[in-house]
Amino acid sequence: MAEMFYENDVEPGVLSGKKIAVIGYGSQGRAQALNLKDSGLDVVVGVRPGKSSNAAVEDGMVVKDVASAVESADIVHILLPDEAQSIVYKKEIEPNLKKGASISFSHGFNIHYNQIIPREDLDVFLVAPKGPGHTVRETFTQGIGVPGLIAIYQDATGNAMKYAKSFAKGIGCMRAGVYVTTFKEETETDLFGEQVDLCGGISALIKASFEVLVDAGYQPEMAYFETVHEVKLIVDLIHEGGLERMWDSVSNTAEYGGMTVGPSIINEESVDAMYIALDRIQNGQFAKEFILEGLTNYTVLRAMERLESEHLMETVGKEIRSNIPWLADKNKKTKK
Ligand code: NDP
Ligand code: MG
Repeated sequence: MAEMFYENDVEPGVLSGKKIAVIGYGSQGRAQALNLKDSGLDVVVGVRPGKSSNAAVEDGMVVKDVASAVESADIVHILLPDEAQSIVYKKEIEPNLKKGASISFSHGFNIHYNQIIPREDLDVFLVAPKGPGHTVRETFTQGIGVPGLIAIYQDATGNAMKYAKSFAKGIGCMRAGVYVTTFKEETETDLFGEQVDLCGGISALIKASFEVLVDAGYQPEMAYFETVHEVKLIVDLIHEGGLERMWDSVSNTAEYGGMTVGPSIINEESVDAMYIALDRIQNGQFAKEFILEGLTNYTVLRAMERLESEHLMETVGKEIRSNIPWLADKNKKTKK
């Protein structure tokens, strides 16, 4: 079983007097920087001029360019997009890092795949909240938090674990529990999860089942409710109480149908595809492809986003959500 910690396991005062630079102010950067500041820690945000930098100023953060933020920092927490980190690291971070400072990440990608090769004098650790930025922030303000993972890659000072634990406490993860992992394990399982289940698998399942119903002549609105809208209701039940709670609260008809048909949908062929996805993660192929994608200005990604936005499921979904008053309000508020 994995080793885990709560707030009581964290030595107090470890980060007092330490300067933390959060580099990047996007989904994770904003949430983590605000939480660290509200935890009473000394935080500066390092960003380039633009949207993020304006948001950080509006939030009342101390904002500097990346190089100046790094210069004064004891801990440099890198929350740039994974595919941008090594370039910014080489140019703006590494030359300005104090001797014996720490660098830290919320995903092990750049260390694990050799994109950032840290100097020997540095502590290198990971604090990865298991949730998107807005949830990391929202739960913190509610007095709770999301669970997190910590890992140590390099312990030059002998303090890396103490720093990682205190940092995880600062962003609120210790309230929910923090598990110890390695950079390798975090990177590979995180990529696998987002490709196979969370982002890739679920969206492909939803889209394919929607297409089948529409193709068979059912109205797209009905298809949307059955294959998209209700996903959240089911996933919320699983999140709270496992499959048991979900099966308990659906009808016997749904339980029998679901249990008997499910395995024919996610079948041996799908499991083979999962192993192939895992292989590509483990052997570095996925990482290389994604890094090149970033260097070519997201040729494939932008094209696929465009195609998907024209999909009937998305256009019908927009219409349906705009007919549900509170969802319509929410979409107006979160529109970028
Ligand atoms: P975002 O894309 O939301 O934010 C990236 C930030 O980096 C923005 O502030 C952006 O500023 C800035 N940035 C991008 N390029 C540069 C550059 N060349 N120089 C300076 N600043 C730059 O990233 P995420 O928060 O999604 O991801 C950050 C890290 O957190 C990644 O390692 C990711 O794997 C990890 N993570 C993310 C999760 C999530 O929920 N999103 C969950 C757990 C971990 P600008 O506005 O100027 O572009
Ligand atoms: Mg991820």
